[in-house]
Amino acid sequence: MSSISILGLGAMGTALARTLLKNGHTVTVWNRTRSRAEPLAGAGAKIAESPAEAIAASELTILCLVDYPAARAVLEQAQEALAGRDLLNLTNGTPGDARELGTWLAARGAIYLDGGIMAIPPMIGGAGALILYSGSRALFDRHSSTLEALAESRHLGEDEGLASLYDIALLSGMYGLFSGFLHASALVTSAGYGGKAVDFLPLLLPWIEAMSGTLPDLAGKIDSGMHGRDVVSNIAMQKIALENIVRASEEQGVAPDFMRPMLRLAGDRVDSGGHGDDISAVVEVIRKRK
Ligand code: NAP
Repeated sequence: MSSISILGLGAMGTALARTLLKNGHTVTVWNRTRSRAEPLAGAGAKIAESPAEAIAASELTILCLVDYPAARAVLEQAQEALAGRDLLNLTNGTPGDARELGTWLAARGAIYLDGGIMAIPPMIGGAGALILYSGSRALFDRHSSTLEALAESRHLGEDEGLASLYDIALLSGMYGLFSGFLHASALVTSAGYGGKAVDFLPLLLPWIEAMSGTLPDLAGKIDSGMHGRDVVSNIAMQKIALENIVRASEEQGVAPDFMRPMLRLAGDRVDSGGHGDDISAVVEVIRKRK
């Protein structure tokens, strides 16, 4: 069993601490607002009086704070305790944030692993939870059995920004799904039809599953750049479908805000001569935009 410190006891930090305690680890906790640490003391955690005390207490320190400025503010209070320590940061941010923090920590002699949690707090320690890691492989290997208690673990590479990049990419997929679901639900529940979102799901879910089956073909086109190969639904036709979605939304009094950007991007590809391409070609349009 190992000793682990957790800095930050919001919903996620608390779930991490409770799971580690349940697995028999020695857990030290610190939180800016001390009252949030007290229930964990009842479950067997030690409460540190400062971030430095928490870092000094354990073989591994996990940060789980609201954002990177908060993480940096906490670490700045503990600069004297950082040299030679293993630090894992599970705070959500950008690849640039992770690389910058990695550089800052390296200058203070700490060993850094970044992570992206693909789970909500009740999933921690259970099936389906995944944590992506990047940064020090040595740190990851040293603590891999501890990390496995939290979630399935995947180390993506030594570049500290990778976990965040893939975390943000997965979240982008999720928000794409949510935005499509919200727009579709607004349409079926719109004036005059009296539909219910729950009744629509038995139609929507198999449709999404069927369309997910087209992703390997689209991914191949993105990787090869061959957007015009074996096209069965060309982008000029899909642009008209998107125009119809926007017009139908307006007729129904539903704001087409989720759909307009897709129409504009598909239109840009058609206007630049890509009529016969697949929808995968939109990637070429957004890659060029800064
Ligand atoms: P949360 O419940 O809002 O907790 C935020 C934590 O940050 C609290 O411990 C808070 O301390 C601390 N904090 C905020 N500003 C601070 C500052 N300036 N100095 C020191 N501490 C500060 O958030 P959470 O849900 O635990 O999320 C934590 C991280 O996990 C985030 O990066 C989030 O994106 C990531 N995450 C969360 C989920 C989720 O579903 N909850 C899922 C995946 C990833 P106080 O108690 O003193 O306010």
